[in-house]
This record gives sequence, structure tokens and C-alpha cells, in this order.
Amino acid sequence: MVTLPSNPSRPFVEAEQEIQLSIVIPFLNEQDVLPICYAKLEVILRKLALPYEIVFVDDGSSDESVPILAAVMRRNPGVRVVRLSRNFGKEAAMSAGLAHTRGASVIVLDADLQDPPELIPEMVKAWREGFDVVSMRRRKREGEGIAKRLSAYAFYRILSRLSRSRIPADTGDFRLMSRRTVNALLQLPERCRYMKGMYAWIGFPTKVIDYDRSIRAAGKTKWNYLALFGLALEGITSFSTAPLRWATGVGAFVALAGGSFGLWIIFKTIVFGHDVPGYPSLVAMITLLSGIQLLTIGLLGEYVGKGYMETKQRPIYIVRDVLDPMTVTALQFA
Ligand code: UDP
Ligand code: MG
Repeated sequence: MVTLPSNPSRPFVEAEQEIQLSIVIPFLNEQDVLPICYAKLEVILRKLALPYEIVFVDDGSSDESVPILAAVMRRNPGVRVVRLSRNFGKEAAMSAGLAHTRGASVIVLDADLQDPPELIPEMVKAWREGFDVVSMRRRKREGEGIAKRLSAYAFYRILSRLSRSRIPADTGDFRLMSRRTVNALLQLPERCRYMKGMYAWIGFPTKVIDYDRSIRAAGKTKWNYLALFGLALEGITSFSTAPLRWATGVGAFVALAGGSFGLWIIFKTIVFGHDVPGYPSLVAMITLLSGIQLLTIGLLGEYVGKGYMETKQRPIYIVRDVLDPMTVTALQFA
């Protein structure tokens, strides 16, 4: 018996016996790498010799990515493309892909070959040994600047300090999940999908495999520092309310310090007589306090905003259509 998810737009299925492995690839404007990615994948999957499907998720691409895949689909009936109605972001696109898989195990891959498909056999082997989750940990980050490495390092350390479910460092979306793990993930209804935290939250027996993350095969990254900062803030506020606790702590400390300072002024006036300096200290206190106030209001706003987004109960993504080898022939692509 499967309990149905509350949101019917995200159905999940029990594993169809035939398909052993589903590959989910979310992409946004990846015409340069998709042919390379598919060619590599096909060789590896053929060698594995187990029934598979590949679910590409078009996250609102405007380039030639979909026509390229249409040509692929005409040759390989195991390939489908889920097209979203617009760009929803990688997290939503992954959820869409997962909801459309039917395999007994599922692997999520980036289209840019930064997640080497060569590791798939090793991942499948671990799954066959009985692990529900095989997560891939980056040993080194090639082609990434010192600033990105440092910020990634700091972020993972801060996050794992803060949140209750251990969020492992340096593992990303590149992972294998068993059918029951995927179904568990699809049951999490949140709109703000911080996947790393969600993987950690659902649990299940996990094996970690180390690998070297290479540079992008072609094309450009879709992340910039502002987006990464947003993601970091999202990660922290999605999985921990500790910052609110800090705000209370800082408030208590500042109030105590202010009170003591006041007492000191009264004492000074009584003992040493009347004297009205204090303009610099006044300005210092006002700027310090208003800074702290604005910061904590902003922090509070993060959580209130998150609550607001969740209460709207909107679907995580909208599917435009699903292209499979049957439907794609009816469509005209150049
Ligand atoms: N991607 C996506 N939707 C987006 C942004 C990215 O589906 O809004 C895909 C992208 O095409 C790629 C994967 O997510 O397959 C990882 O993106 P990217 O390589 O830009 O991120 P990075 O590897 O630099 O973290
Ligand atoms: Mg990449």
C-alpha cells in the first residue's frame, strides 16, 4: 500500500519491474553539452546492460537543447523530456524529473558532465549491496576559484553546526536513490526546496563515495555569487531557526550592556559632578543598535517570508508537456 501524496500534481509510482535505473538530468540551455552528455551516458548504460530510462527535464530552455533531444528520442525509446512551462530553477526541475521516473533506482546528473557518468556502475553496485542512497562526495573542486572553494567550505561547516539533521559536507545532487527514497523525497511538500537538507532529513542507509569533480565540459555556469549567497541563506533558514535564537541572545546582551552603561553614567554624575559630553557615545550606540535591529528584523523577515511562500500552497513546478518517442514525431523541430 502506498499513501498518496497530498498534492496530486506530483504523483509518484511504485517501481515498475522492468526499469531498474532512471537517470534524471535537469538542464537549462545546454545545447553545447547535451550531445556529449547523452553520447557518454549511452555507452555506459549499454555496458551496464540493465533496463533504464533517461528523463531530461527542460527547465525553460530557449536554445536548441530540446530539438537536439528530439533527435535523440527518435533513436532511443528509453529517453523522455519533461518540459516545464518556464524556468523554475534546478531544485524544482529535479523534483519534476523525480516525479516522472519509474525505475527501481534513480540517479540525478548535471547535464554539464561535472558529475561523471563513468561512476554510475559503481553507484549501481552499492545500491545492489543494499544501500538506499549512494551519495557522491567531491574530493577536490577543479576549475573553481579560491573564493568559491573557501565560501563553499565555510557554508557547509556553518550549516552542519546549525541544523539538527546532519547535512554532510561536499555532497551535492549527484546521487543514487532507491525507489522508496525517491518516494519519501516526493512526499516532502515544501515550496522552498533546499535539496541538500531534504536528502539529509529523509535518512535511509547511505553509502558515500569520493570522486573528483571536474570542470564543466562546455557552456557556462548558471550561478553567480549573488545567487550562491541567496542559496546559502535559503539553506540556513530552511533548516534551522538558530539565527532567531541568536537574535534574542544578541538583543539580551546589548540591553544588558546599555543598562550597565546607563548605571555607570549615573554613578559618574553623582561622584564626579555634572558633565555633558556623550555626543560620540550617543551616535555610536544609536548606529550600533539600529544596525542590530535592522539585521534582526531582516532575519525575522526571512522566516516570515518563507512561511508566506509555503502557505500559498502553489505547486513546485508546472509541466508544459512530456515528450516521449511517440509524441515527439508529431512535433516539428528543425
Ligand atoms: N540548471 C537547471 N535550471 C537552472 C539552472 C541550472 O536545470 O535554473 C541545470 C544546468 O543546466 C545543469 C545543472 O542544473 O545541468 C547544474 O547547473 P550549473 O552547471 O550551472 O551549476 P554548477 O555546476 O556551476 O553548480
Ligand atoms: Mg555545473
